[in-house]
Amino acid sequence: MPSSVLVTGGAGYIGSVTVELLAGSGRRVVVLDDLSKGHREAIPADVPLVVGSAGDSELVSTLLREHEVDSVIHFAAKSLVGESMEKPGDYYEANVVHGARLLEAMEAAGVRKIVFSSSAGVYGEPESVPIGETHRTEPVNVYGDTKLAFEKILRWRAGASDLGFVSLRYFNAAGATERCGEDHDPETHLIPIALKVAQGKLPKLTVFGDDYETPDGTCIRDYIDVRDLANAHILALDALDSGRSGVYNLGNGEGWSVLNVIDTVERVTGKTLPREMGERREGDPAKLVASSALAESELGWKATHPELADMVEAAWSWLVDHPEGYAA
Ligand code: UDP
Repeated sequence: MPSSVLVTGGAGYIGSVTVELLAGSGRRVVVLDDLSKGHREAIPADVPLVVGSAGDSELVSTLLREHEVDSVIHFAAKSLVGESMEKPGDYYEANVVHGARLLEAMEAAGVRKIVFSSSAGVYGEPESVPIGETHRTEPVNVYGDTKLAFEKILRWRAGASDLGFVSLRYFNAAGATERCGEDHDPETHLIPIALKVAQGKLPKLTVFGDDYETPDGTCIRDYIDVRDLANAHILALDALDSGRSGVYNLGNGEGWSVLNVIDTVERVTGKTLPREMGERREGDPAKLVASSALAESELGWKATHPELADMVEAAWSWLVDHPEGYAA
């Protein structure tokens, strides 16, 4: 029997799309998720789900052995920037301590390959855009700092042992597959909020600041299709198999402002979105755009759905099929 890939946090948004792709490519997959945010329904019926924490060493050790795991994709984390500022201890515990325990269990079981779900949040306020991997890393929130801390653990451990790691720094994930979509509670992200307004489930959208130094005054972000993001994890596993480790940005290299996003959602859904101008949200840089040149040259990755309208279209069609999210 071939060995399997353990996907922690595989019932979440990006994790579930990655599981779908991995299973579709014929790999053996096992998911570990505590279901605090993830959805059981997001995991294909033939993929085993172990409910629990990546920080539960005993559970992880057993499942690494029983499922003959030879590589890990580690998504399981807390990921709300605002909450991270209010409860830093919870974030260091979940994102750093649990991750460190996972690495211990992997080492004890002889599992030597890991793909880590990192974030553009490691950079903080950009000095220049597009942002490359050598850009200064100075997170401006706890969430970004926990991601950077775990990257450092990976780097030092890899330097001292035969551990191989690929850290993927995501910019703004968007879109859906037919099976898997974005269903957060609470929802804080721009595109799903705009789609909820289009659905009539929210009365209006608040634009967080229109006095930034950008052409229309609203923040610019780099949206990347979740299918392209998921595919990068498969390429990262291939890279690890050929002995490569590294840190890679994943974005489109193109930026859209908040108003561009609202226009696109209106065009795709055919609805007018009531909106109001609000205050800036704390910790929001004016412009975040990635250079993914390294992922292209070293991983062979390329965005295949680079158009924002395609991402919004996919997210909207998932929502039309799942008007109440996974709960329906
Ligand atoms: N945003 C907004 N209104 C909302 C949610 C988000 O104006 O209700 C803005 C936010 O300030 C940022 C952009 O939309 O400039 C993308 O925010 P999101 O939370 O989706 O992703 P982030 O860039 O924070 O990871």
